[in-house]
Amino acid sequence: MVAITRLREALSVAEGDPELVRSQVQAFGRQIPLLYFILIVNTMAVTFTHLHSAPAWMSIYIPGALCTLCVVRCMRWWRGRNLVLTHEKAVPELRRLIWVAGIFGIAFTTWSLMLLPYGTPYEQAHVAFYMATTVVGCVFCLMHLRVAALLLLSIVILSFATFLVFTGSPVFIAMAVDMTLIGLALAFIIELYYRSFAGVVHTQRDLQASQEKTQRLSDENFRLASIDSLTDLPNRRSFFASLRALSEQALATGGGFNVGLIDLDGFKQVNDIYGHASGDLVLQEVGVRLLALAEPGIFFARLGGDEFGVLAQNRQSNDALLELGQRICDALSQPYRVAGNIAELSGTIGWAAFPDAGNTVTQVFERADAALYVGKEGRRGTAVIFSTEHETRIRRSSLVTQELRHAELESELFLEFQPISDVVTRRTIGLEALGRWHNPRLGAVKPEEFIRIAERTEIILRITEVLLHKALAEVPHWPAELYLSFNLSAIDISTSARARRLIDIVSASGVPPHRVSFEITETAVTRDFEQARSALTMIKQAGCRVSLDDFGTGYSSLSYVHRLPFDSIKIDRSFMTDVDSNSASKKIVKSVLDLCKNLGLECVVEGLETSSQAEVVKALGARAVQGYLFSPPMRSGAVSGYLQSAFAQSQANDAAS
Ligand code: C2E
Ligand code: MG
Ligand code: MG
Repeated sequence: MVAITRLREALSVAEGDPELVRSQVQAFGRQIPLLYFILIVNTMAVTFTHLHSAPAWMSIYIPGALCTLCVVRCMRWWRGRNLVLTHEKAVPELRRLIWVAGIFGIAFTTWSLMLLPYGTPYEQAHVAFYMATTVVGCVFCLMHLRVAALLLLSIVILSFATFLVFTGSPVFIAMAVDMTLIGLALAFIIELYYRSFAGVVHTQRDLQASQEKTQRLSDENFRLASIDSLTDLPNRRSFFASLRALSEQALATGGGFNVGLIDLDGFKQVNDIYGHASGDLVLQEVGVRLLALAEPGIFFARLGGDEFGVLAQNRQSNDALLELGQRICDALSQPYRVAGNIAELSGTIGWAAFPDAGNTVTQVFERADAALYVGKEGRRGTAVIFSTEHETRIRRSSLVTQELRHAELESELFLEFQPISDVVTRRTIGLEALGRWHNPRLGAVKPEEFIRIAERTEIILRITEVLLHKALAEVPHWPAELYLSFNLSAIDISTSARARRLIDIVSASGVPPHRVSFEITETAVTRDFEQARSALTMIKQAGCRVSLDDFGTGYSSLSYVHRLPFDSIKIDRSFMTDVDSNSASKKIVKSVLDLCKNLGLECVVEGLETSSQAEVVKALGARAVQGYLFSPPMRSGAVSGYLQSAFAQSQANDAAS
């Protein structure tokens, strides 16, 4: 059974093995010219020796026709030598080749057998030699086509050996036996060669398959390493790779491109209020919205957290950038559905152009970051393009940082105090300490500037300590019912040890803790909600008060106020500007005042400048107020004079009413 299967296998085309079939056709194609060369040269040699001994049709016409056939086949091969056959075409082609080998074998053998009786024994021996060398040569050329080689071998050996045996000549019989044995050996060699050929083809196929698999795996790994798994957008690494590629291209071609950094406003609140799973959903939705805006030449990436990047491949006009930026901002400010609630977020974008704003990857990225910073500070939810004004800002910022690092903080820092008053009785109830810095080289630097810069480094910790000592030193000079309100930065409450340090400074000063109120802005609280909560709780437990500063400027929600241990809320002064003319501002102030009343919190209205504003907020139910109407911030030396005159005025008011 096995032998029959083997035989059948040996005599058929390996149809189910496309690689083998393809390799056979290819390998045989290379041998075709040699095959016909052997056939034609050998045939012509025999023709030549039999020219006079055999009739013309035997020595000229038949071999001439056979050689012409060989030439025709050769030309056919030449025309199709560069064709790559599909498997469907290669299988019939192989079958055809086997048929051709068989027909050629029969034709040439018949001709030579018919020629054998002619001529002298030398010429007869030439025909036998011709058959032997031709069959060996042709069989070697057909090695890759086992079936064809075996078929040819069998036709020639069997017919020739039989013919020779029937001649009865002992020499011819010996030749027949010899030919048969050599034929068998050749068949064995063909089989061995064919197997090793098929083995090489299969090994190459397996190798190629394993290389393809490795390539697929490595492509997949590369994809995973450059994609952000949450949003499916390219990740930071991929963003910088594209940025580098674009910068190299731009430098080489003299072109340019734009880098945009997008930061979500209000994302932290979503995370804190609804949890991280909801935060992730929002980020995914942001990814979907950004992808929808992608177009040829515009790529988005997630750089980490709630920060995204955009690359606009070609040089764009400022108008086009602002328009694209606006489309992005509009898409991001659509409401998000989170855990059954609707969350409102917005996105701010900073753009920088390469190479105009910076001609290195780092520089252009930093410039886009600077533009984003400017946007976050004053124009949230919009796109800002980096300009020289921002450049000046960056220079100034690094100058201030340098000076802050080397400043004699003890002597250069001082405080001004601004009274917090009762708008009804006009009595002073407390004083807010406001930091001031006078530097020998820079002169007076506004607190908004130096505090913001100091907050980026840990210098703010030293500033807070120096100012807190100075502020506490003033309190004993004030009437006992007045409290001190002192501003803190996010970093001051970023660890329990830092909160503890503040408490220790208050205790060491001898000022009763209930006379100290610490103000913290909502943006500071949102940096790390849990840490802020535990630090504020510690401060409260130590007996000090805590208050939420600049309420209304960020994304504070009722839930924030409710979950943190505040004693009071300070309504940002921006609402005061038009409180007496704009009903929306009035409504906001009223609702915050009502909220405080409900939660049992004190509410301080900041930025009161005119009597008309004072009347409005009084009517809305405000008590504690602060603003230029009562007094601008003053040096410590002026406080007692102010308190005396304010007291006198409140007495006069009392008497009048
Ligand atoms: P803030 O804590 O909200 O302080 C109130 C700011 O409003 C002060 O500005 C004050 O001068 C100003 N102001 C008060 N009444 C009025 C008014 O009627 N109209 C107008 N237009 N402005 C008024 P200042 O002193 O420039 O301080 C700015 C901010 O810098 C402060 O805002 C506070 O957030 C921060 N800051 C000031 N001193 C310190 C400090 O010692 N530590 C920390 N961490 N931050 C401080
Ligand atoms: Mg304040
Ligand atoms: Mg404030």
